Amino acid sequence: MAEIVIRNLRKEFGAFTAVRGSSFTIRDGEFFMLLGPSGCGKTTTLRMIAGLELPTSGEILIDGEDVSQKPASQRDIAMVFQMFALYPHMNVRKNISYPLVSQGMPKAQVQAKVAEVARILGIADILDKPVGGLSGGDRQRVALGRAIVRNPKAFMMDEPLGALDAEFREHMSEELRALHDRMKATTVYVTHDQLEAMQMGDKIVVMNHGVVEQFGTPQDIYDHPATLFVADFIGSPSMNFLRFEGVAAAGATSVQLGEVPMSLPELQEPAAGKLVLGVRPEHVGLTDNSPYRGRVEATEYLGTTQIVTLSTPNGVVKARAPATQSVKLGEAVGLTLNPRTLSLFDATTGRAFR
Ligand code: ATP
Repeated sequence: MAEIVIRNLRKEFGAFTAVRGSSFTIRDGEFFMLLGPSGCGKTTTLRMIAGLELPTSGEILIDGEDVSQKPASQRDIAMVFQMFALYPHMNVRKNISYPLVSQGMPKAQVQAKVAEVARILGIADILDKPVGGLSGGDRQRVALGRAIVRNPKAFMMDEPLGALDAEFREHMSEELRALHDRMKATTVYVTHDQLEAMQMGDKIVVMNHGVVEQFGTPQDIYDHPATLFVADFIGSPSMNFLRFEGVAAAGATSVQLGEVPMSLPELQEPAAGKLVLGVRPEHVGLTDNSPYRGRVEATEYLGTTQIVTLSTPNGVVKARAPATQSVKLGEAVGLTLNPRTLSLFDATTGRAFR
Protein backbone atom coordinates (compact mmCIF):
# COMPACT_ATOMS: atom_id res chain seq x y z
CA MET A 1 0.00 0.00 0.00
CA ALA A 2 1.34 3.43 -0.85
CA GLU A 3 0.73 7.14 -1.01
CA ILE A 4 2.38 8.73 -4.05
CA VAL A 5 3.18 12.45 -4.08
CA ILE A 6 4.13 14.13 -7.37
CA ARG A 7 5.80 17.54 -7.14
CA ASN A 8 6.66 19.78 -10.10
CA LEU A 9 7.39 16.73 -12.22
CA ARG A 10 8.93 17.57 -15.58
CA LYS A 11 10.18 15.47 -18.48
CA GLU A 12 12.06 16.72 -21.52
CA PHE A 13 12.96 14.57 -24.51
CA GLY A 14 15.64 16.72 -26.16
CA ALA A 15 13.97 20.00 -27.11
CA PHE A 16 10.47 18.58 -26.55
CA THR A 17 8.81 18.88 -23.15
CA ALA A 18 6.35 16.02 -22.60
CA VAL A 19 5.43 16.84 -18.96
CA ARG A 20 5.55 20.45 -17.76
CA GLY A 21 5.66 20.54 -13.97
CA SER A 22 2.84 18.29 -12.70
CA SER A 23 1.84 18.24 -9.04
CA PHE A 24 -0.77 15.98 -7.45
CA THR A 25 -1.18 13.44 -4.67
CA ILE A 26 -2.39 9.85 -5.02
CA ARG A 27 -3.71 8.69 -1.68
CA ASP A 28 -3.16 5.24 -0.29
CA GLY A 29 -5.65 2.79 -1.82
CA GLU A 30 -6.99 5.15 -4.48
CA PHE A 31 -7.95 4.15 -8.00
CA PHE A 32 -6.37 7.10 -9.75
CA MET A 33 -6.88 8.00 -13.41
CA LEU A 34 -4.45 9.86 -15.68
CA LEU A 35 -6.75 11.12 -18.44
CA GLY A 36 -6.14 13.14 -21.58
CA PRO A 37 -5.87 13.05 -25.37
CA SER A 38 -3.14 11.23 -27.26
CA GLY A 39 0.29 12.75 -26.67
CA CYS A 40 -0.65 14.76 -23.56
CA GLY A 41 2.04 13.10 -21.43
CA LYS A 42 0.02 10.61 -19.38
CA THR A 43 2.08 7.52 -20.30
CA THR A 44 5.30 9.46 -19.65
CA THR A 45 3.94 10.43 -16.21
CA LEU A 46 3.04 6.80 -15.43
CA ARG A 47 6.45 5.57 -16.59
CA MET A 48 8.18 8.12 -14.35
CA ILE A 49 6.16 6.92 -11.34
CA ALA A 50 7.09 3.31 -12.16
CA GLY A 51 10.76 4.23 -12.64
CA LEU A 52 10.88 3.25 -16.34
CA GLU A 53 11.71 6.85 -17.21
CA LEU A 54 13.66 9.29 -15.03
CA PRO A 55 12.29 12.84 -14.59
CA THR A 56 14.25 15.85 -15.87
CA SER A 57 13.27 17.61 -12.64
CA GLY A 58 10.73 17.37 -9.85
CA GLU A 59 10.01 14.77 -7.21
CA ILE A 60 8.17 11.49 -6.80
CA LEU A 61 7.63 10.46 -3.19
CA ILE A 62 6.34 6.98 -2.34
CA ASP A 63 5.25 6.79 1.28
CA GLY A 64 7.38 9.85 1.98
CA GLU A 65 10.54 8.47 0.38
CA ASP A 66 11.99 10.34 -2.60
CA VAL A 67 12.35 7.70 -5.32
CA SER A 68 12.70 10.16 -8.24
CA GLN A 69 16.11 8.91 -9.33
CA LYS A 70 15.76 5.27 -8.23
CA PRO A 71 15.47 2.45 -10.77
CA ALA A 72 12.17 0.60 -11.22
CA SER A 73 13.52 -2.45 -9.40
CA GLN A 74 13.80 -0.46 -6.17
CA ARG A 75 10.26 0.96 -6.23
CA ASP A 76 8.15 -2.16 -5.67
CA ILE A 77 5.58 -1.13 -8.28
CA ALA A 78 3.89 -3.52 -10.73
CA MET A 79 3.11 -2.50 -14.32
CA VAL A 80 0.10 -4.05 -16.08
CA PHE A 81 0.43 -3.56 -19.82
CA GLN A 82 -2.23 -3.43 -22.51
CA MET A 83 -0.71 -6.24 -24.53
CA PHE A 84 -0.99 -9.08 -22.07
CA ALA A 85 2.74 -9.59 -21.76
CA LEU A 86 2.59 -13.28 -20.84
CA TYR A 87 5.16 -16.02 -21.40
CA PRO A 88 3.47 -17.98 -24.23
CA HIS A 89 5.33 -21.25 -23.67
CA MET A 90 4.29 -21.49 -19.99
CA ASN A 91 0.94 -22.47 -18.51
CA VAL A 92 -1.15 -20.13 -16.35
CA ARG A 93 0.33 -21.35 -13.06
CA LYS A 94 3.91 -20.82 -14.26
CA ASN A 95 3.09 -17.37 -15.64
CA ILE A 96 1.63 -16.25 -12.34
CA SER A 97 4.30 -17.83 -10.15
CA TYR A 98 7.21 -16.58 -12.28
CA PRO A 99 7.88 -13.36 -10.29
CA LEU A 100 7.95 -15.33 -7.02
CA VAL A 101 10.11 -18.18 -8.34
CA SER A 102 12.62 -15.69 -9.73
CA GLN A 103 12.79 -14.08 -6.26
CA GLY A 104 13.72 -17.53 -4.91
CA MET A 105 10.57 -17.98 -2.81
CA PRO A 106 10.13 -21.54 -1.41
CA LYS A 107 7.86 -23.78 -3.51
CA ALA A 108 5.13 -24.33 -0.91
CA GLN A 109 4.80 -20.61 -0.34
CA VAL A 110 4.62 -19.97 -4.11
CA GLN A 111 1.84 -22.58 -4.45
CA ALA A 112 -0.17 -20.97 -1.65
CA LYS A 113 0.17 -17.47 -3.11
CA VAL A 114 -0.75 -18.58 -6.63
CA ALA A 115 -3.80 -20.41 -5.28
CA GLU A 116 -4.93 -17.30 -3.41
CA VAL A 117 -4.50 -15.03 -6.45
CA ALA A 118 -6.29 -17.56 -8.69
CA ARG A 119 -9.19 -17.60 -6.25
CA ILE A 120 -9.39 -13.76 -6.16
CA LEU A 121 -9.41 -13.62 -9.96
CA GLY A 122 -11.68 -16.63 -10.49
CA ILE A 123 -9.15 -18.55 -12.61
CA ALA A 124 -8.41 -21.54 -10.34
CA ASP A 125 -9.83 -23.93 -12.94
CA ILE A 126 -7.45 -22.88 -15.73
CA LEU A 127 -4.16 -22.92 -13.79
CA ASP A 128 -2.77 -25.86 -15.76
CA LYS A 129 -3.85 -24.65 -19.21
CA PRO A 130 -1.34 -23.17 -21.66
CA VAL A 131 -1.86 -19.40 -22.01
CA GLY A 132 -1.81 -19.70 -25.81
CA GLY A 133 -5.41 -21.00 -26.02
CA LEU A 134 -6.98 -18.58 -23.54
CA SER A 135 -9.63 -15.96 -24.30
CA GLY A 136 -8.72 -12.25 -24.13
CA GLY A 137 -10.39 -11.89 -20.75
CA ASP A 138 -8.58 -14.86 -19.21
CA ARG A 139 -5.26 -13.62 -20.56
CA GLN A 140 -5.97 -10.27 -18.95
CA ARG A 141 -6.77 -12.02 -15.67
CA VAL A 142 -3.51 -13.98 -15.84
CA ALA A 143 -1.56 -10.77 -16.53
CA LEU A 144 -3.25 -9.20 -13.50
CA GLY A 145 -2.48 -12.31 -11.46
CA ARG A 146 1.20 -12.00 -12.25
CA ALA A 147 1.13 -8.37 -11.09
CA ILE A 148 -0.90 -9.06 -7.93
CA VAL A 149 1.01 -12.14 -6.77
CA ARG A 150 4.09 -10.29 -5.61
CA ASN A 151 1.98 -7.92 -3.53
CA PRO A 152 3.56 -4.68 -4.75
CA LYS A 153 3.07 -1.27 -3.14
CA ALA A 154 1.12 0.00 -6.15
CA PHE A 155 -0.13 -0.97 -9.61
CA MET A 156 0.47 1.04 -12.78
CA MET A 157 -1.90 0.27 -15.66
CA ASP A 158 -1.44 1.77 -19.13
CA GLU A 159 -4.73 1.44 -21.06
CA PRO A 160 -4.99 -2.20 -19.90
CA LEU A 161 -8.35 -2.69 -21.63
CA GLY A 162 -7.42 -0.88 -24.84
CA ALA A 163 -7.17 -4.07 -26.91
CA LEU A 164 -10.62 -5.37 -25.96
CA ASP A 165 -13.87 -4.84 -27.86
CA ALA A 166 -16.42 -2.41 -26.39
CA GLU A 167 -18.75 -4.87 -24.68
CA PHE A 168 -16.00 -6.94 -23.12
CA ARG A 169 -14.13 -3.81 -22.15
CA GLU A 170 -17.07 -2.67 -20.05
CA HIS A 171 -17.27 -6.07 -18.36
CA MET A 172 -13.52 -6.09 -17.59
CA SER A 173 -13.60 -2.52 -16.30
CA GLU A 174 -16.29 -3.51 -13.80
CA GLU A 175 -14.23 -6.56 -12.85
CA LEU A 176 -11.09 -4.45 -12.37
CA ARG A 177 -12.92 -1.94 -10.23
CA ALA A 178 -14.46 -4.74 -8.11
CA LEU A 179 -11.01 -6.30 -7.72
CA HIS A 180 -9.64 -2.96 -6.59
CA ASP A 181 -12.45 -2.56 -4.08
CA ARG A 182 -11.49 -5.94 -2.57
CA MET A 183 -7.72 -5.38 -2.57
CA LYS A 184 -7.63 -1.61 -1.94
CA ALA A 185 -4.18 -1.32 -3.54
CA THR A 186 -3.08 2.08 -4.87
CA THR A 187 -3.64 1.95 -8.62
CA VAL A 188 -2.66 4.48 -11.28
CA TYR A 189 -4.51 3.96 -14.55
CA VAL A 190 -3.87 5.70 -17.88
CA THR A 191 -6.77 6.22 -20.28
CA HIS A 192 -7.89 8.61 -23.01
CA ASP A 193 -11.50 7.52 -22.47
CA GLN A 194 -13.32 10.07 -20.33
CA LEU A 195 -16.22 7.73 -19.63
CA GLU A 196 -13.88 4.99 -18.38
CA ALA A 197 -12.13 7.55 -16.15
CA MET A 198 -15.43 8.83 -14.74
CA GLN A 199 -16.81 5.32 -14.12
CA MET A 200 -13.72 3.76 -12.56
CA GLY A 201 -11.74 6.51 -10.88
CA ASP A 202 -11.76 7.78 -7.31
CA LYS A 203 -9.73 10.74 -8.58
CA ILE A 204 -8.83 11.99 -12.03
CA VAL A 205 -5.95 14.10 -13.33
CA VAL A 206 -6.85 15.67 -16.68
CA MET A 207 -3.75 16.46 -18.79
CA ASN A 208 -3.34 18.42 -22.00
CA HIS A 209 -0.05 19.26 -23.78
CA GLY A 210 1.98 18.10 -20.78
CA VAL A 211 0.06 20.30 -18.33
CA VAL A 212 -2.27 19.21 -15.53
CA GLU A 213 -5.51 21.04 -16.34
CA GLN A 214 -7.41 19.77 -13.31
CA PHE A 215 -7.15 17.24 -10.50
CA GLY A 216 -10.20 16.08 -8.49
CA THR A 217 -13.02 13.59 -8.06
CA PRO A 218 -15.06 12.68 -11.16
CA GLN A 219 -17.93 14.76 -9.80
CA ASP A 220 -15.74 17.84 -9.12
CA ILE A 221 -14.38 17.68 -12.61
CA TYR A 222 -17.76 17.16 -14.26
CA ASP A 223 -19.61 19.78 -12.22
CA HIS A 224 -16.87 22.38 -11.82
CA PRO A 225 -14.45 22.18 -14.75
CA ALA A 226 -11.44 24.43 -14.11
CA THR A 227 -10.79 25.16 -17.79
CA LEU A 228 -12.56 25.20 -21.15
CA PHE A 229 -10.40 22.23 -22.17
CA VAL A 230 -11.69 20.08 -19.28
CA ALA A 231 -15.27 21.25 -19.80
CA ASP A 232 -15.07 20.20 -23.44
CA PHE A 233 -13.16 16.93 -22.90
CA ILE A 234 -15.44 15.52 -20.17
CA GLY A 235 -19.07 14.65 -20.92
CA SER A 236 -20.94 13.52 -24.02
CA PRO A 237 -22.32 15.51 -25.71
CA SER A 238 -19.85 18.10 -24.41
CA MET A 239 -20.69 21.15 -22.36
CA ASN A 240 -22.25 23.98 -24.39
CA PHE A 241 -20.28 27.21 -24.65
CA LEU A 242 -22.26 30.46 -25.05
CA ARG A 243 -19.81 33.15 -26.17
CA PHE A 244 -20.45 36.79 -25.32
CA GLU A 245 -18.77 40.01 -24.18
CA GLY A 246 -19.70 41.15 -20.73
CA VAL A 247 -18.77 42.22 -17.26
CA ALA A 248 -19.62 40.86 -13.83
CA ALA A 249 -18.43 42.18 -10.46
CA ALA A 250 -17.22 40.00 -7.59
CA GLY A 251 -20.37 38.86 -5.78
CA ALA A 252 -22.47 38.99 -8.97
CA THR A 253 -25.14 36.31 -9.33
CA SER A 254 -26.00 36.92 -12.96
CA VAL A 255 -24.55 37.96 -16.33
CA GLN A 256 -26.28 39.71 -19.19
CA LEU A 257 -26.57 37.57 -22.34
CA GLY A 258 -27.63 40.26 -24.82
CA GLU A 259 -30.98 41.50 -23.46
CA VAL A 260 -31.46 38.55 -21.12
CA PRO A 261 -30.03 38.27 -17.59
CA MET A 262 -28.80 34.74 -16.78
CA SER A 263 -28.52 33.73 -13.11
CA LEU A 264 -25.39 31.84 -12.08
CA PRO A 265 -23.64 30.76 -8.86
CA GLU A 266 -22.19 33.76 -6.97
CA LEU A 267 -18.83 34.82 -8.43
CA GLN A 268 -15.97 35.19 -5.96
CA GLU A 269 -13.92 37.23 -8.45
CA PRO A 270 -14.77 39.85 -11.09
CA ALA A 271 -15.07 38.85 -14.76
CA ALA A 272 -14.90 41.07 -17.83
CA GLY A 273 -14.22 40.99 -21.56
CA LYS A 274 -14.67 38.00 -23.83
CA LEU A 275 -16.53 35.46 -21.70
CA VAL A 276 -17.97 32.00 -22.14
CA LEU A 277 -20.96 30.67 -20.26
CA GLY A 278 -20.77 26.87 -19.95
CA VAL A 279 -23.84 24.68 -19.49
CA ARG A 280 -24.22 20.93 -19.84
CA PRO A 281 -26.93 19.65 -22.22
CA GLU A 282 -28.88 18.04 -19.36
CA HIS A 283 -29.14 21.45 -17.66
CA VAL A 284 -30.77 23.19 -20.63
CA GLY A 285 -34.56 23.18 -20.41
CA LEU A 286 -36.86 23.86 -23.38
CA THR A 287 -39.92 25.89 -22.48
CA ASP A 288 -42.24 28.38 -24.13
CA ASN A 289 -41.96 31.11 -21.56
CA SER A 290 -38.25 31.98 -21.49
CA PRO A 291 -37.04 35.22 -23.13
CA TYR A 292 -33.79 33.52 -24.23
CA ARG A 293 -34.70 31.93 -27.56
CA GLY A 294 -33.18 29.43 -29.95
CA ARG A 295 -34.21 27.73 -33.19
CA VAL A 296 -34.41 23.94 -33.42
CA GLU A 297 -31.87 22.78 -36.02
CA ALA A 298 -31.83 19.02 -35.37
CA THR A 299 -33.06 16.31 -33.02
CA GLU A 300 -31.45 13.00 -32.21
CA TYR A 301 -33.62 10.33 -30.58
CA LEU A 302 -31.87 8.28 -27.87
CA GLY A 303 -34.70 6.22 -26.40
CA THR A 304 -35.44 7.83 -23.04
CA THR A 305 -33.95 11.22 -23.99
CA GLN A 306 -33.35 13.20 -27.16
CA ILE A 307 -30.56 15.62 -28.02
CA VAL A 308 -32.00 18.82 -29.46
CA THR A 309 -29.58 21.09 -31.34
CA LEU A 310 -30.51 24.77 -31.33
CA SER A 311 -28.99 27.89 -32.81
CA THR A 312 -28.93 30.82 -30.37
CA PRO A 313 -27.52 34.36 -30.59
CA ASN A 314 -24.44 33.02 -28.72
CA GLY A 315 -23.79 29.91 -30.77
CA VAL A 316 -25.04 26.34 -31.07
CA VAL A 317 -26.57 24.77 -27.94
CA LYS A 318 -27.45 21.11 -27.40
CA ALA A 319 -30.19 20.26 -24.91
CA ARG A 320 -30.89 16.81 -23.49
CA ALA A 321 -34.70 16.70 -23.27
CA PRO A 322 -37.14 13.90 -22.42
CA ALA A 323 -37.86 11.84 -25.55
CA THR A 324 -41.55 12.48 -24.95
CA GLN A 325 -41.18 16.27 -25.29
CA SER A 326 -42.50 17.48 -28.62
CA VAL A 327 -40.04 19.68 -30.57
CA LYS A 328 -40.34 20.65 -34.23
CA LEU A 329 -37.53 21.41 -36.65
CA GLY A 330 -37.29 25.12 -37.43
CA GLU A 331 -39.40 26.10 -34.42
CA ALA A 332 -38.30 28.91 -32.07
CA VAL A 333 -38.27 27.79 -28.41
CA GLY A 334 -37.28 29.31 -25.08
CA LEU A 335 -34.19 27.98 -23.26
CA THR A 336 -33.77 27.91 -19.50
CA LEU A 337 -30.30 27.28 -18.10
CA ASN A 338 -30.23 25.76 -14.61
CA PRO A 339 -28.42 28.55 -12.69
CA ARG A 340 -26.75 26.32 -10.08
CA THR A 341 -24.93 24.36 -12.77
CA LEU A 342 -23.49 27.16 -14.92
CA SER A 343 -19.75 27.82 -15.30
CA LEU A 344 -18.25 31.11 -16.46
CA PHE A 345 -14.91 31.08 -18.30
CA ASP A 346 -12.45 33.67 -19.58
CA ALA A 347 -12.45 33.08 -23.37
CA THR A 348 -8.82 34.21 -23.67
CA THR A 349 -7.15 32.21 -20.88
CA GLY A 350 -9.72 29.38 -20.86
CA ARG A 351 -9.82 29.52 -17.06
CA ALA A 352 -13.07 29.26 -15.05
CA PHE A 353 -14.04 32.14 -12.78
CA ARG A 354 -14.84 30.90 -9.29
P1 ATP B 1 -0.74 8.17 -25.98
O1 ATP B 1 -2.08 7.83 -25.42
O2 ATP B 1 -0.78 8.48 -27.44
O3 ATP B 1 0.36 7.23 -25.58
P2 ATP B 1 0.19 9.94 -23.94
O4 ATP B 1 -0.62 11.03 -23.37
O5 ATP B 1 0.35 8.74 -23.12
O6 ATP B 1 -0.37 9.59 -25.35
P3 ATP B 1 3.03 10.12 -23.97
O7 ATP B 1 3.23 8.72 -24.46
O8 ATP B 1 3.32 10.40 -22.54
O9 ATP B 1 1.56 10.59 -24.30
O10 ATP B 1 3.86 11.09 -24.89
C1 ATP B 1 3.85 12.49 -24.72
C2 ATP B 1 4.70 13.11 -25.79
O11 ATP B 1 6.08 12.79 -25.56
C3 ATP B 1 4.37 12.61 -27.19
O12 ATP B 1 4.41 13.70 -28.08
C4 ATP B 1 5.48 11.62 -27.49
O13 ATP B 1 5.77 11.61 -28.87
C5 ATP B 1 6.64 12.19 -26.69
N1 ATP B 1 7.56 11.12 -26.27
C6 ATP B 1 7.25 10.09 -25.45
N2 ATP B 1 8.34 9.30 -25.24
C7 ATP B 1 9.35 9.85 -25.96
C8 ATP B 1 10.72 9.52 -26.16
N3 ATP B 1 11.28 8.44 -25.57
N4 ATP B 1 11.45 10.33 -26.96
C9 ATP B 1 10.90 11.41 -27.53
N5 ATP B 1 9.62 11.79 -27.39
C10 ATP B 1 8.85 11.02 -26.62
